Amino acid sequence: MHKLILWDIDHTLIETGGVGSEVFKDAFEQVTGRKIDRLADVTGRTEQVIFRETLDLYDIEDPGDYFEKFVQVQAASYRARADEMCQRGRALPGAREALQAFAELPDITQTVLTGNPKPSAIAKLETFGLVHYLDLEIGAYGTDDSIRPNLVPIAQARATTRTGHTYTRETTYIIGDTKSDVEAAHKGGAQIVAVATGDTTVKQLRDAGALQVLSSLREVTELPL
Ligand SMILES: [Mg+2]
Repeated sequence: MHKLILWDIDHTLIETGGVGSEVFKDAFEQVTGRKIDRLADVTGRTEQVIFRETLDLYDIEDPGDYFEKFVQVQAASYRARADEMCQRGRALPGAREALQAFAELPDITQTVLTGNPKPSAIAKLETFGLVHYLDLEIGAYGTDDSIRPNLVPIAQARATTRTGHTYTRETTYIIGDTKSDVEAAHKGGAQIVAVATGDTTVKQLRDAGALQVLSSLREVTELPL
């Protein structure tokens, strides 16, 4: 049975140590010309939604091509601040080992399912040296759709094109830290492995409907995948 693992990035594989929200703010200001001191709620949400709601917070009505520009500026900013992000942020405990362990198993394909725009997702994973375990060309990103569950069939279709195998709800696994990851799996068509390394507790993830909840990725290789 061929399986597809779809990794969430923020608070699942890595933490930026606050660099992420600073980069968002700087890129937003650079693109819109408006100074901001707050942004919309980010947890588990896709970047298009965070961006749109932050525009709303500041009554900016006609975004034009702001989001497209924002995506480029944001990724460039992550790259420029890679050393700082390494200092302040981290790959989460067990992340590298889990990626490596799955990469060595036959019949498993690994990529990402993230609300991040693709260029920023790649920049972050490169900063922490995690890209070579993942096939990032077949991932699904916040630049593909603003609704997270819609990203599941996008990733499945790309993986099928790459490998020739079909991926169903039974053979696709999202690994993520928020209720939005749980919802994406349920509505989008995947199993969920939740990991309580973000702001959402084990109990909250269970209550959201995750059957498998880990306290950290150190436990992930014990899963019967
Ligand atoms: Mg996350």
